[in-house]
Amino acid sequence: MAYLRDNLVKKNDPLFLIAKVRVSVPISSQNFQNGKSEFDYLVSKGTQIQIGNIVEVSFRNRTIWGVVYSLEYETRIKHSKLKQILSISGVSPIKLCNLEFLEKVSEWTMAPFGQVLRALLSAPNAYKDETPIFYYSLSSAAQFEMEKLSKARKKVINWCMQKPPVSINTLCKEIGVSRNTINSMFQEGQLERVQNSLKPKEDTQTILKHLKTAIGAASKLNLSTEQQQAADQIIVHENKFNIVLLDGVTGSGKTEVYFELVKRQILSGNQCLILLPEIALTAGWVDRFNRWFGFTPYIWHSGITASKKKIIWRDINEGYPGVVVGARSALFLPFSSLSVIVVDEEHDVGYKQEEQVIYNARDMAILRAKLAECNIILASATPSLESWTNMLSGRYQHITLTNRYGLATMPDIQTIDLTKNKPLFGKWISEPLISNIKEKLNSKQQVLLYLNRRGYAPISVCNGCGMKQSCHQCDSLLVTHRLSNLLRCHQCGVARPFENKCQSCGQTDTIQLVGPGVERLAEEVYELFPDARVTILSSDTLSNPKQIEPTIQSIEKGEVDIIIGTQMVSKGHHFPKLTCVAVIDGDFGLSGGDLRAGERTFQMLTQVAGRSGRENQRGTVFIQTSEPFHPVLQALKTQKRDNYFKLELEMRDSANMPPYRRLAAIIYSSIDETAITTYVKKLANLKPQFEDVYIHGPAPAPIYKIKGRHRFRFLVNAPKKVNMQKIIHGWHSSLVMPAIIRRQIDIDPYNFM
Ligand SMILES: [Zn+2]
Ligand SMILES: [Zn+2]
Repeated sequence: MAYLRDNLVKKNDPLFLIAKVRVSVPISSQNFQNGKSEFDYLVSKGTQIQIGNIVEVSFRNRTIWGVVYSLEYETRIKHSKLKQILSISGVSPIKLCNLEFLEKVSEWTMAPFGQVLRALLSAPNAYKDETPIFYYSLSSAAQFEMEKLSKARKKVINWCMQKPPVSINTLCKEIGVSRNTINSMFQEGQLERVQNSLKPKEDTQTILKHLKTAIGAASKLNLSTEQQQAADQIIVHENKFNIVLLDGVTGSGKTEVYFELVKRQILSGNQCLILLPEIALTAGWVDRFNRWFGFTPYIWHSGITASKKKIIWRDINEGYPGVVVGARSALFLPFSSLSVIVVDEEHDVGYKQEEQVIYNARDMAILRAKLAECNIILASATPSLESWTNMLSGRYQHITLTNRYGLATMPDIQTIDLTKNKPLFGKWISEPLISNIKEKLNSKQQVLLYLNRRGYAPISVCNGCGMKQSCHQCDSLLVTHRLSNLLRCHQCGVARPFENKCQSCGQTDTIQLVGPGVERLAEEVYELFPDARVTILSSDTLSNPKQIEPTIQSIEKGEVDIIIGTQMVSKGHHFPKLTCVAVIDGDFGLSGGDLRAGERTFQMLTQVAGRSGRENQRGTVFIQTSEPFHPVLQALKTQKRDNYFKLELEMRDSANMPPYRRLAAIIYSSIDETAITTYVKKLANLKPQFEDVYIHGPAPAPIYKIKGRHRFRFLVNAPKKVNMQKIIHGWHSSLVMPAIIRRQIDIDPYNFM
């Protein structure tokens, strides 16, 4: 593009520099134009500014935060039209590796850059300059004639003679005087004050000294020979980019192995990041960390307070040594000396973010490790097939732990054939399972009943007209929740009070509830085992780590006999008294159109089974199923995981599916059905032709309507070496997307609805 000479700021322009600032606003990337959210601002020469500085700028009549990506002398925009930067934050500039990381995430996910930048600029309090706080004390130079002073002033002077400097608020509160008194005493020179920044800047060496002392004083736990060998093999590749698949059976002590590596890095003054699936971030886990390290890590997830976020964000940006334990968003903290990343339970679907920037935190963690040139450890008892094939091809180092830690052994897994042992009508627990549970309860053992269905009943149908009660804005059935007495849509979250009245024909008392949810299962349990102490672990009743904690503790203490839980129980918990796990619906998830249904069911069941018998007593697992010979269940029963992986991989290979190839789902949605239909038809006509690249669609998405929006899907299937993003980009740049349509690109999709 040509531009006029007089629009240039000359190199020797005495007045201004041009800062290219990326703002944390997702610019509607109409055909991906200006997806970088980058704009030019003026900076007066001589201003202390550098790349990575967080700056405040005026943007579309708002004041927002942005990051300086480059500093130049030239701009294509007329000088008089440019605005000046409003302020530069006092925090250290963001390190280049972070800026590069954001850039790559945006490229990979095809999300507008401004949206990715938001993930980094997630703690506004951290870079806002705070109002200074002054601490008051008696002036060293002042001379008083006490008799001539007012009563209030005497009180202030007496108090200050005995106490250390405090803020004006504290003074007024403690002594009971007005702010005016203090202010005039200061103006007359009787008091003096010093500015006190909220957190005195410590130097890295002092912090490191504290951490070393804490680690030195922490209880020494010994690694088993197997654990030590595993750690030693990883240490060989320390301080360089190396991907480790730490593959250990449930309860084998993978955590201690990576703790050992984290400890080494902390002692060298570095930063470490441990990612956990959100719900596993319990106080129990943190206690375990504390015992090993003697200090508390930085804990980062969506639920922490703004003031905590501020401290963590600043410390990490300053490069202070420490460990961050967090959910996927912790990946976007501004690390400056990252030396090891751990992705615990790497197979967990919780790592997939499904909104705004759609990414898999495990994959982005690998990218981050590559840029930071550090070690990354993917830990799991049931690795994802993606990681498994990367290990087979030699890209990942494979380290195995085959024994359970201490005296624990692997549980005994049995299936209960539901075709031969059908539970009574409207009941879900079969006769053999009832007698086994009774036996366990009699011998004072803890039992977990696993059912991955929230609420009371998944379906409510009208006996009068036969209609299933469904959401008015989604193609989704309403789930009955008894505890909250609501009918809830699990797609959009909309809920209405439960009433025994058909929405369709208006008849009352005709609604019949079909199928089990955990609440309904609990009802059956109360009936069967009236003396048992029962608790439900489900995200409906417990939605954040703080709420979960008391329940987890009472389970650990043995104050609960029967736990009824959804998938949230399967993650990371260690219940020492639990010896029996029963899977109520072992068929759930095995069928259906989901590519990973088998793999996910296998992972889930292995994890749930792994909760059983983690201490001295051997655990038992019962799986109720109508397909006892299904390969997933056979592999579980015989504990021949690798055989199952082999079988599943052969199927994927012959179907041309991941992990051998790569998928991208592009979903278009709109409230306007005509507009969306026309648009996707036009796009279909423009489908590019590349060898061995298949673009399927447009097809109505399996859930066609969500929140009133009609949805169409294209699915791209390509070899892994193909740059899919480039193909998608090229395809779309030739057609303008009407503003009424929304596009969502999902590279490596997990959700096919
Ligand atoms: Zn009806
Ligand atoms: Zn809905």
